[in-house]
Amino acid sequence: MKRRELLKAMAALPLLPLLMRSGAASARDAVNVMMTKFRSRVRPGDPGWPLAAQWEQLKRDVGGRLLKLESPFAHCATSPSDSACAEALKHLDNPFALGDNPALTQTSGWADAWTSQPSAYAVAVENTADVVAAVNFARQHHLRLVVKGGGHSYQGTSDAPDSLLIWPRHMNNVTLHDDFVAQGCVEAPQHAVTIEAGAMWSDAYDAVTTRGGRYVQGGGCTTVGVAGLVQSGGFGSFSKHWGTAAANLLEAEIVTADGKVRIANACTHPDLFWGIKGGGGGSLGTITRLTLRTFELPDVFGAVFGAIKASSDDAFRTLIAKAMEFYRSALFNPHWGEQLSFRGSNTLNISMVFQGLTQQQAEQVWAPFLDWVRARSEYRFAKPVQVLALPARHFWDAEFFRAHAPQLVVADDRPGAPAHHVLWAGDQDQV
Ligand SMILES: Cc1cc2nc3c(=O)[nH]c(=O)nc-3n(C[C@H](O)[C@H](O)[C@H](O)COP(=O)(O)OP(=O)(O)OC[C@H]3O[C@@H](n4cnc5c(N)ncnc54)[C@H](O)[C@@H]3O)c2cc1C
Repeated sequence: MKRRELLKAMAALPLLPLLMRSGAASARDAVNVMMTKFRSRVRPGDPGWPLAAQWEQLKRDVGGRLLKLESPFAHCATSPSDSACAEALKHLDNPFALGDNPALTQTSGWADAWTSQPSAYAVAVENTADVVAAVNFARQHHLRLVVKGGGHSYQGTSDAPDSLLIWPRHMNNVTLHDDFVAQGCVEAPQHAVTIEAGAMWSDAYDAVTTRGGRYVQGGGCTTVGVAGLVQSGGFGSFSKHWGTAAANLLEAEIVTADGKVRIANACTHPDLFWGIKGGGGGSLGTITRLTLRTFELPDVFGAVFGAIKASSDDAFRTLIAKAMEFYRSALFNPHWGEQLSFRGSNTLNISMVFQGLTQQQAEQVWAPFLDWVRARSEYRFAKPVQVLALPARHFWDAEFFRAHAPQLVVADDRPGAPAHHVLWAGDQDQV
């Protein structure tokens, strides 16, 4: 909203009760117009929608990286046998492909809440200046503005029909530092990683752990966006030991709604820094890059997989109680992460990971619980419980998994896809 409009609206606020009480149709209309103006954004077809020449100017300002968007499924309703439609449908279960299309989000929406629809235009930003140009254009023309990272928002907050989209997918550099000091801070240099706004966790883990031999705290799903997760707090498999992703944020570069580029850290713009550490994606500006603390990598990471099935509802109730007691006494600590899940078919599913323990130590932790199960005829192992350990450096190493346990990962199967773009097979039903 322009400053003058805001001032006018504020000046009229004290008159609101009077106007409402008067009941005059014209007064109500005036209030409605004022409130609509106060809230609304210009949409295609509205008188204030930018002219073609103005979009052209924006396109020049961003080096040609302005895209007019259309859903790849637009023609499927009318021409389902169309080859373009078949091509779009082919990649529906590939989250990397969905993320590579600015017109799509990772889900089609949520029933009775939101439906995924493309923005009118996207700027495929490649640098901070592109972001500034897009923010200024949206502000000057009073447009809806939205930012999409990995596109995984449950609430649809990276999706806004009729909007201008900032799409940083191609800004995905990851740079490691041995001696990072946040701007304006006087503090000891520390190990850190700077990650651009379009990177997914698969990009971060590949650079930091597989190639860099260090650890950064992120999320479990490799196709989630780094910036989106950090702004929503970010709890990962090993967060009980290393904290949330947001807690390890050292600094961010962010373009605020006034088009200013700001560095936010504990010493510079500390309020903004506090706000982006969990305040919700896109609430306070567009982040162009984030710097996160990195940690020494332990020797070993490990996992425990399996499933236990109870023969009756009563036996399952007893199993749930026993599993909860076991979790509280043995697993609810910084060594362990991920999930025990209780399934509809009287089955306890085990999908846990560990750090800071050897394989033998992990087996010892589980032995009393598994002995208890084995001693009772009402339980059987629907999947044998396996305790696996591997050098921590291979935990996100796509090549290692392709060679040794290909069943555990699913690769982006499109020609030319980066080799490290894989997701956990167990995550496939989430993405
Ligand atoms: C399959 C799946 C697995 C998940 N696993 C975990 C997990 O292990 N741990 C966890 O904590 N959470 C997890 N989440 C939740 C996830 O962290 C949030 O939904 C997160 O906001 C998604 O970020 P995104 O970039 O992928 O999504 P997007 O929909 O692109 O973005 C989410 C929000 O952040 C905003 N945003 C994105 N990039 C920027 C930017 N550069 N600047 C400003 N705003 C931006 C968007 O506008 C939107 O409001 C998971 C979600 C899914 C769907």
